[in-house]
Amino acid sequence: MNDSPARRPTWVIGNWKQHKLTAEANALADEVARRGSDHVRVGVAPTHLTLAGVATTIADRPVTVFGQTCGLHDTGAFTGDVGPQMLVDVGAGGVLLGHSERREMAHETSAKVAAKAALALGAGLHTVVCVGEPLDVREAGGHEKFVTSMLLESLDGFELNDASASRLVVAYEPVWAIGTGKTATATEAGAMHEALRVALDERFSACGARIPLLYGGSVKPANAAGLFAPPFVDGFLVGGAALDARSFMDIVSITAKAHRP
Ligand code: PEP
Repeated sequence: MNDSPARRPTWVIGNWKQHKLTAEANALADEVARRGSDHVRVGVAPTHLTLAGVATTIADRPVTVFGQTCGLHDTGAFTGDVGPQMLVDVGAGGVLLGHSERREMAHETSAKVAAKAALALGAGLHTVVCVGEPLDVREAGGHEKFVTSMLLESLDGFELNDASASRLVVAYEPVWAIGTGKTATATEAGAMHEALRVALDERFSACGARIPLLYGGSVKPANAAGLFAPPFVDGFLVGGAALDARSFMDIVSITAKAHRP
């Protein structure tokens, strides 16, 4: 296993979910982009409707705009869907896939996530594949096997090259920690990240070592330093705390301060 985090970028990405009307989204993006960070790649994921405005507001500033999902096709008779090329067209540099809310509400299976990930990587998007276990799986003790299998199924059927490896990101988000105020302990997050690191290295050989592994689940300024401490935690996917520029950028600053050169 390659344990050199220097090979991987550190990301902090805010998932705004179904929040923020146009003016609020632009204002939040502007505040985030104004503060920026040297050691951390910062991303924001507004709704599809506000994405183009956010991208215009922060054009040429070092913040990547993410879609919150994308369709299975670039174009076609798929009412309501948005293809990865369309996200690129309006200024997105990345996309989140397989968020637990999409898996639950929109039946985004791991097979669909894998197909979307191949398409999104091909479109040149930073592609964040999210995985995580529900509470009953954690309590029964089968979480590492469950999440590792979910990850491998969500990455099935495509290979990476130098360029696409530099755009793939994985986020471990225990479902029981999302929006609940409960977080994994640093020890729990570290153990899962180590298991996923091994799985990525086996799945993609040398390219696997380059894929950052983010933690998500009630990350806040108060717990960010502790959660960033385990060696295989390469950053955060942040929900609730990303809706306020100050708390989000405090998480970015804390992560940047603890950044491993
Ligand atoms: C998320 O939705 O990806 C998330 C981690 O949310 P929260 O930080 O609110 O738990």
